Amino acid sequence: MVLRRLFTMNFLSKILDILLPAKCLLCGGLHDKGMENICLTCMDKIPFIKEPSCAKCGIPFEILYSIEDNPDYLCGRCRAAPPLFDRALSACRYDDTVREIVSAYKYQNKPYIGKDLISIVFRFLKDKIAELSPELIVPVPLHIKRLKERGYDQSYILAEGVGRELNIPVSYKNLTRIRYTTPQVELSGNERLKNVKGAFSIKDEFEIKGKGILLIDDVFTTGATIRECVKVIRGAGADKVYVLTVARA
Ligand SMILES: [Zn+2]
Ligand SMILES: [Zn+2]
Repeated sequence: MVLRRLFTMNFLSKILDILLPAKCLLCGGLHDKGMENICLTCMDKIPFIKEPSCAKCGIPFEILYSIEDNPDYLCGRCRAAPPLFDRALSACRYDDTVREIVSAYKYQNKPYIGKDLISIVFRFLKDKIAELSPELIVPVPLHIKRLKERGYDQSYILAEGVGRELNIPVSYKNLTRIRYTTPQVELSGNERLKNVKGAFSIKDEFEIKGKGILLIDDVFTTGATIRECVKVIRGAGADKVYVLTVARA
């Protein structure tokens, strides 16, 4: 009986997908890609990061130096102060278009946009993530109070989507936010560092120890939150720590 109902619901939603074209989140245009919320024309406006970029933090180089012969070329910041992670990957720049998608995802109760963000990540990064062969995905967590306000955990949804596609397990509730913090967007660079200091903790070191970890968040801005997370993951004995974000400022 339950199976039959499920089948009917699935069948109905398939028919609805065909009959009702989806409305694009950005341009409002109708398109028949029932599963996605961003049309292909708008998807093409996303500033994907293509080479060349820093081999460590992934920041794209503004000037196209001839560095193709040196895949290990690092940006000035990484050379001056090497980051704690082994490698960071981002799919695109955090421009106005991407900001609009991410803020709809985080602040307008639209968890289903996670699917579009995962498509953005996989458009050019799928092979690169697979090459790093991480053994466990760890999402940057929300504080339980913020999770209750928002109703869903945006980084967990992304982590789960990436994990499912690449067949990598996702850690749940191990990396936790032990202190409620002011949203980083309201603070300056130095304040951000202070704000998240000591805000994270690992509950089960055994899950992390000796593994290649892929830390996932939506946006890499100053890197303060990511730095704190990487610090505790390293402290738990991770072998490698990679960072994946949809966008970077
Ligand atoms: Zn559109
Ligand atoms: Zn760099």
